[in-house]
Amino acid sequence: MTRVAVIATGGTIASTATRGGVVATRNAEALVESARINDIDVETHDLMTVGSYRMTLGHIRSVSDAVAGLLQRRQDPVDGIVITHGTDTMEETAILLDLVHGDPRPLVLTGAQRASDATDGDGPRNLADAILAAAAPDCRGLGVLIVFAGRVLPARGTRKVHTTALDAFHSVVGGKAGDVSDGTVLIRAVPRRPAPLPRPTARFDGTRVDLIEMYPGADAALLTAAVAAGARGIVLAGTGIGNANPVVVAAVRELVGDDVAVVLSTRVAQGPVEGVYGDGGGADLVAAGVPTASGLPASQLRMLLALWLSENRADAARVRSMIATYADNKEE
Ligand code: ASP
Repeated sequence: MTRVAVIATGGTIASTATRGGVVATRNAEALVESARINDIDVETHDLMTVGSYRMTLGHIRSVSDAVAGLLQRRQDPVDGIVITHGTDTMEETAILLDLVHGDPRPLVLTGAQRASDATDGDGPRNLADAILAAAAPDCRGLGVLIVFAGRVLPARGTRKVHTTALDAFHSVVGGKAGDVSDGTVLIRAVPRRPAPLPRPTARFDGTRVDLIEMYPGADAALLTAAVAAGARGIVLAGTGIGNANPVVVAAVRELVGDDVAVVLSTRVAQGPVEGVYGDGGGADLVAAGVPTASGLPASQLRMLLALWLSENRADAARVRSMIATYADNKEE
């Protein structure tokens, strides 16, 4: 029988109402029981029971370590793995896992928008669909997937786009990989993925990369504070196609090449990032040596940069070539 491991980390899918608010309380076994799976051998593992909004890079690395341990297991090998996770930062954990996943076996993240004690919860169906996807031969070789509300989404480029709607996740770069409907997994597109990077080590946990968004009147204070706090990388979520202003550009010019990697993203939900505008816009940032990244949303770009900087210096030319390989998407 096909064997799937479910690793529980907490999140709304495992949460119940308490006097202190909704918090993660339920374990993997309880979640799997609610999903009512037949014909697939499901084993359960409890890694942590936390809301994903309070996860650190260390928590995320421990998910990566747990996955690696299961994939390496020789006895009773697993055919696929599901991770139940809070939805708030699922996109971060998903991309970190995808960046280092070199095994053809499916790795699927899922969660829920409604708590596990809700009468009309979405968790059991999402988990059942995720287990089916993890067991599906058609999902082999697709990398890390997010299965949510009947959609099969590639980790790369998928974001939480709604705070409460049941179909909370959309692919903002590319498109969905397929669907799960009536217990059948239908794959329609094979996501493009770069070669895997080495798995995170303990250095990853302390690699500070800050995400700084641009807005009218933004100055250099947050950039300066980030660097003073030890940031080795900054994802600049520009306005529009990737713009800042003359004050921020001047500060960035000082930082680039000073062992701080600055990468340009956008605060807009979708679309390419390009150095088009002068007078404080993206063209000036590009001229200052900042690479643009259209292939990952800012939240995921931050994870890539943290992973890479945990093992490499912020040499401007190497950062540019790494971004071109792992975070650019000329076709979008
Ligand atoms: N709203 C979140 C969830 O869906 C809370 C969290 O991220 O843990 O799980």
